[in-house]
Amino acid sequence: MKALKDGRQKLQKANYSLTVPDRPEITSHNLTKQERDTLAVVKARSLSQLKGITEKTSQNIKRVFSAGLQSGKNPNKIASELNKEVDTISITRSRTLARTELANAHVQAVSDMYEQAGAKGVEVEIAVLFGVAPCPICKKYANRRLTVAEFRSIFPAHPNCECSSKPIPKDLDF
Ligand SMILES: [Zn+2]
Repeated sequence: MKALKDGRQKLQKANYSLTVPDRPEITSHNLTKQERDTLAVVKARSLSQLKGITEKTSQNIKRVFSAGLQSGKNPNKIASELNKEVDTISITRSRTLARTELANAHVQAVSDMYEQAGAKGVEVEIAVLFGVAPCPICKKYANRRLTVAEFRSIFPAHPNCECSSKPIPKDLDF
């Protein structure tokens, strides 16, 4: 998971020591406990904010998504599988859903890692697309300091949100 690799580098820069093995991709056979927990979060996450999706469809989405994540597929690949298996959602919606769920998995996994390393807080890093912050929701959090718990409860802040965080350096007060 690239997000975990980035997170580990950010921890080092902020003077935390944590040894997390380098894992270029996730397969169902080599999941760490942390990654299994992340999948559990994905499975448990409510999809009720997507109006018009029935409980049965929502179960199908969770199944396709967690299988895709376990085999290390990228969001577009997961999206086309969702679109094939769940005939009531469009490809656009499938892509949004896959990206947002993947972003959520990344936020949770990196936040777990920061907490394990003892980071008290994080600084929000707003995703920038073509030189512009994509939406007013995220813009207001630019360079804001949040506790790890606050960060993981707020982000991803909206569908397609790709914002991340970096730990506040160990020697600074939070
Ligand atoms: Zn965002």
